[in-house]
Amino acid sequence: MIACEMCGKKCSNLKTVLVEGSILNVCENCGKLGKPIKPETVPTPLEIAMRLEQREKRFRTKNVFENVENELVHDYAKKIKDARMKMNLTPEELGKRINEKKTVITKIESGNMKPDETLIKKLETALNIKLTEKPKTEKVETKRTGRALTIGDLIKREE
Ligand SMILES: [Zn+2]
Repeated sequence: MIACEMCGKKCSNLKTVLVEGSILNVCENCGKLGKPIKPETVPTPLEIAMRLEQREKRFRTKNVFENVENELVHDYAKKIKDARMKMNLTPEELGKRINEKKTVITKIESGNMKPDETLIKKLETALNIKLTEKPKTEKVETKRTGRALTIGDLIKREE
């Protein structure tokens, strides 16, 4: 038996309440005078649903990134020029190899023109270089969601 901290009455089942700023273990009667303190909060079904929704959102974000086309590297101009020089080709010679005008090559190498997808592929093949990369954010996103992955998520994904 424990004694009520307010009236001293011996009681088997004390309540924890907040009375005038202090936490006391009191009997049923005295408990009515104070504010009951909530036990350690257990997430409510609503809170769980919200968390799941947030996780689902991250998944959607990740899938969006997966579908994003590879991006042209920011230093494509330098890469192309360096590769061309290594192969001892003039802009004109490289142009001939990929069936483009010399001016196209010089414009790209000076950063004044962004090659389109077809041109990127031709340049990559001709120079044996890589001019595209996955958007950087994608990697971060995969890592984060990968850690939070649960069987429930996998089932949801397949729906
Ligand atoms: Zn009491």
